[in-house]
Amino acid sequence: MRFDVVTLFPEMVAGASRYGVTGRALERGQAELVTWNPRDFTRDRHRTVDDRPYGGGPGMVMKVEPLRAAIRAAREADARPARVIYLSPQGRKLDQAAVETFSRRPRMILVAGRYEGIDERLVESEIDEEWSIGDYVLSGGELAALVVIDAVTRLLPGVLHHEESARQDSHVAGLLDHPHYTRPEEINGRRVPQVLLSGDHRAIARWRLKQALGRTWLRRPDLLARLELDETRRQLLEE
Ligand code: SAM
Repeated sequence: MRFDVVTLFPEMVAGASRYGVTGRALERGQAELVTWNPRDFTRDRHRTVDDRPYGGGPGMVMKVEPLRAAIRAAREADARPARVIYLSPQGRKLDQAAVETFSRRPRMILVAGRYEGIDERLVESEIDEEWSIGDYVLSGGELAALVVIDAVTRLLPGVLHHEESARQDSHVAGLLDHPHYTRPEEINGRRVPQVLLSGDHRAIARWRLKQALGRTWLRRPDLLARLELDETRRQLLEE
């Protein structure tokens, strides 16, 4: 997977991607990250990337020419096809299903806006998809691009040490994850549930599934309404 990120703050994106799972994937060549700064595509002395909005009002708008040149340079830098994604609070809300779809693509170009956003004509002519990371407003699209990069990278083949654990993560199988415990067995009078110490793998799997169902019912009943239990999990519950 190759990520091309168009951003006024390339150090922010490259820096934050250096850690943990994404950092390791980039080091091993399982993912690739290239940044493109619209400022490098300006032609004026002040390297201007923003301008005042037509119609007046507060804030600035990202100018068409440098951003378009940066997006086109990113597009042409690799032969593999890439959808151009604008991170925007007005986009479709990101979820695990979308992340899984992204992880099957060979590459993606992520455009991070700043100021009041980007000129609408650029959205119409250069952007293939708009995605939001939630119903709140960030001051820039970099954190949203990083969210996409992180969520997608951990799904790439061979990136996680324990791919089985990723299958149990919240939202992957339509449920929230079960609770997790590690040593010591008892802390301030709170003990690890006995079943987890039993060594009975079937019983542990059943307990975890019931916990996941219970949590989802309590915290996210909307997910349960859409849940379809597969045969393996149904059998486990019936035992
Ligand atoms: N005026 C814009 C609006 O209300 O739709 C918000 C602009 S915001 C201050 C600046 C940039 O942050 C946006 O261009 C977008 O790239 C990014 N951004 C803000 N909130 C976001 C969100 N929830 N998801 C993805 N990107 C977001």
